[in-house]
Order: sequence, then structure tokens, then C-alpha cells
Amino acid sequence: MDYNPILLERIKSKLPRIINNKTAIPIGMEEVERYEKAKQIFEGMLAEKGGEKLVQGIFRLHDELTVEYRKDHVLACRKGCDYCCHQLVCCSAAEMGLIVNFFKNLPRERRRRISRGIKKKAWKFYGENKKVIEGSSRWEMLDNFLRSKLLGVPCIYLSKQGQCLIYPVRPIDCRVAKTESPCGDSRKIEGLPNEIRLFCDQIASDLIMEGEKEKFGEMEIAPLIGWPISQQFGSFFK
Ligand code: SF4
Repeated sequence: MDYNPILLERIKSKLPRIINNKTAIPIGMEEVERYEKAKQIFEGMLAEKGGEKLVQGIFRLHDELTVEYRKDHVLACRKGCDYCCHQLVCCSAAEMGLIVNFFKNLPRERRRRISRGIKKKAWKFYGENKKVIEGSSRWEMLDNFLRSKLLGVPCIYLSKQGQCLIYPVRPIDCRVAKTESPCGDSRKIEGLPNEIRLFCDQIASDLIMEGEKEKFGEMEIAPLIGWPISQQFGSFFK
């Protein structure tokens, strides 16, 4: 899939000053205006909207902007650190569709082995926590429960060697995780890292949610650990 070839060039020239601001949640009027302006530029640059294509485009833009940011800022994040992969991570249905398509392109045997393992872990977690998961009447309740339950638990897509099995299509939740202070040992995790959020993180997340709503009429967000046993994608993870 190709987006407008001049798209990234335009971003490079227009956005760096806007994204260098570390505040994700707009506070004053000026911040709101800056955020809106950056969002408009993002939106205007996306040639196609909706579903997985929108998500792929946003991932690409977000990657570019993050690289741009890292030219002038030092982050503690480095290859091999999987601290952020030990907590509740959610994604939209369109992002999950992208993950499933990624799996479909893997060699058959490898795909089977990985997807079976993933489904097994998902069912195990569900079985152990069925009562709370089925009994929670409000998302907030379930969200709090899952946050505490999954803190320190490796993501179902994290290999034993500490590598993300779906790195090229990892959801936006994973892409926005970044910190300036080293996280320490993920096996002794006690709390979440002190993350920083950039304008481009907030905008990218918002655009995915809005795009999904536009295309499907609603936003379907679920924990990564839930999708492989969902009605929508469960049959893929045999
Ligand atoms: S999807 Fe990949 S990057 Fe995201 S939490 Fe799981 S292992 Fe980590």
C-alpha cells in the first residue's frame, strides 16, 4: 500500500516543532490549538481512510515522527528491553486485523505453532479469571482488574527470548510507550515506567479510534489477550 509519496517529506518539514512538545493532554487554549493544527495536518496527509489501511498509514507516520523526535532527545528505550510488554495492552479491531494478516503471511508451520501457543495462553488466562471477566458489568471495573492482574505478566506476543513476535504490526499502544528513565528488570516489575507522551502519540491514537468509528460505526477495543479467543478472530488462532 502506498500513500502519497510527498507525505512524509511534508511531515518532516512541518511537524517537528509541534511534536517536540511533551504534553499529550492539551491544557490551555494554545495547547488545544497546537494539537488541533497538528491533527489537521495528519488527517490531510492521509490519502485513504478507514480500517487497516488507515492504521498502516498512521503507524508509518508515527514511526517517522518518533525518529525525528529521537534526533534531539535521548530516550532510555533500547532494543532488548521488554519492560513495557508486561502490562495490559489493548488494540482496536482494525489493528487486530493487521496482526492476523501479518500471521497469514508467515510460513505455515511457524504460523500454526505460534498461533496455537497464543490461543492456549489466552484461554488459560480467561479460565483463571472467568468469574471476574464475565461478572464485570462496567468496563472500568474490568479495566482495573486487568491492569492489576496483567502487571508483570508477559504479553502473549512476547517470545521467550524477549522479542515481539508481531513487531512490524504492533499496536499503537506499544508504539507510544517511551521513557527517559531506565526501566530496570521486567521480572521484578513493581510499577509502570515513567512514560512520556508526545503530540504525535496522542494524535495517532485518536485517529485510529476515529477512523475505526467512521468505518465500522463503533470502536471495538479489547485487550491483546482477549482477541485470540474472540468471536471475530478466535477461529484464526486454531
Ligand atoms: S505486542 Fe509486542 S511490543 Fe506490544 S506488548 Fe506485546 S510483545 Fe510488547
